[in-house]
Amino acid sequence: MKIICDWENCNEIGAYKAPVEKDNSKKYRLLCLAHIKIFNKNWNYFENMNDQEIEFFIKSDLTWHKSTKTFGSSDNFFNILWNNALDDKLNIFKSSNFKDFKRTKVSQQDKDALQVLELSQEVKWEQIHAKFKELVKKYHPDKNQGDKKFEDKLKKITLAFSQLKKTLGKK
Ligand SMILES: [Zn+2]
Repeated sequence: MKIICDWENCNEIGAYKAPVEKDNSKKYRLLCLAHIKIFNKNWNYFENMNDQEIEFFIKSDLTWHKSTKTFGSSDNFFNILWNNALDDKLNIFKSSNFKDFKRTKVSQQDKDALQVLELSQEVKWEQIHAKFKELVKKYHPDKNQGDKKFEDKLKKITLAFSQLKKTLGKK
């Protein structure tokens, strides 16, 4: 039995996982290639959150999900984002899809996010993407004999990347 893309009125095969909720849950729906591309372009972890909530989310350890069991599982939210970013087969993170920072207008959340990624404010998208890949590889449990001690750090890095992706992604 073939699974059909979950997009409305689409009859292609659903081969790509799209997270349903903005948390660590395993819920996802399956989409075809054309629709996962649209989904990934529009999908934003911080959507419907105001500036304060985002800032709190980035800064506070309290908001991290305590349940760590599924952190490394293949359909976990973070893993989906990493895999998309590390191995950009769909060209979601191609630099032409992103703007540059306006020198004088970097918001506080973006400054915080850049700091988490150990980057300066003069940075271009390619460098953000490259740094994110570098840090995910460095701190990923798979690269540390399954040791999850860098989990929170990795989550912050992922959220910082999502924040910058939101700011710089062209609409
Ligand atoms: Zn489809």
